[in-house]
Amino acid sequence: MDQTVSDACGLERHISSISFWQAVSAGGFKSGEDPLRMILHCDLDYFFAQCEELSNPGLSTKPLVICAYSGRTEDSGVVSTANYVARKLRVNSGLPIIQAKKILEGSNATYLPIDRPRYESISDRVMAIFSAHVGIVEKASIDEAYLDITEQVQLDLTEGRNLAQSLKRDIRREEGLSCSIGLGANKVVAKIASGFVKPDGLTIVPSYQSAEFLSPLPVDKLPGIGKKTQERLRGMHLETIGDLAKSNIQYITAAFGKKMGTYFHLASRGMDKDPVRPRLGPEQLSRIVTLKENSRDTDMISPELEDLAQDLHAKALKHGLQFRSVGIIAVLENLVAKTRTKTLDQPTSSIDIIRGSSTELLRTLLEETDLQIRRVGIQLSNLTPTTGQTFLAEFMERPPSTP
Ligand SMILES: [Mg+2]
Repeated sequence: MDQTVSDACGLERHISSISFWQAVSAGGFKSGEDPLRMILHCDLDYFFAQCEELSNPGLSTKPLVICAYSGRTEDSGVVSTANYVARKLRVNSGLPIIQAKKILEGSNATYLPIDRPRYESISDRVMAIFSAHVGIVEKASIDEAYLDITEQVQLDLTEGRNLAQSLKRDIRREEGLSCSIGLGANKVVAKIASGFVKPDGLTIVPSYQSAEFLSPLPVDKLPGIGKKTQERLRGMHLETIGDLAKSNIQYITAAFGKKMGTYFHLASRGMDKDPVRPRLGPEQLSRIVTLKENSRDTDMISPELEDLAQDLHAKALKHGLQFRSVGIIAVLENLVAKTRTKTLDQPTSSIDIIRGSSTELLRTLLEETDLQIRRVGIQLSNLTPTTGQTFLAEFMERPPSTP
């Protein structure tokens, strides 16, 4: 029953067509442990660099380095993201730019500064694709999200795999980007799985194989374990996640404290209760509804858009936000998600702009397809506070990610 996944995700591994429930009845899950869940972690591949390759495809065959310049001297700063050509030459995130330039000397490499506003807009559209398909989406960073698909796929692994594939396909078709997806019984396993095969990977870990999957991996693959902690664990002869899983919890807790110790103990055994928190980040407000029946009739869709416009407008006012982009999300009858966005010259909080733009975008979208619309949504992005900068500083300044 296993199929080789077509071009978009040729690197798929760990596929099993055994359903979750079969695994449960086979004794793969003991009651009293974590609740049964199915979680996806989606990670856009070498995101900043991939965005630049999109606008200039010629860059993809040469080393490409996106630089986080510190501004002190011309070349001071570090590599934010490198494409895979540069990574093969051992130029990775965090490397000082000066060193990267030495390594890549004579290789015809390109160095570009971070263009965050553009990456944010692309990220917003990808997040809209996720929310068009899945109800519970947690944006974890500009290029990563967790999706809880438990109810949607009824814990069926084949269904879960199909959903992951359609997300990959839509992101490729709509935005031209590749991503890697991990499917697991919780956030920890899904996150590690998405990094297991990259780029353009799909790694599926059935819940009863969580511990087995994690066991041979080095401890620093566990979220929260950095180089320092890895060194300390190595000093305790704990090299792999499996070593950690077998170790005595008191021993670990004594060294790392109760909170961290308990986390290491559970996570190393593939256990994690942390819920996927519906959150698309403060950079956007969006809502999507399912139409009573599939339609292309604007008279029928307009009242839904009006409700959405009023709801989002009220939310924007409540949070003291203005927006500069209005987007429309449509899931077609074949379940493909489409998004179209309009960006204004000035931020606004006008409901008439939401109404006008969403109606116009819906019309454009309908002109581009003959299919009926199944779900429709509006998204407001490029948000800024109506007054003051506190909100921005608080929410938008994230530590530099390493996409
Ligand atoms: Mg990434």
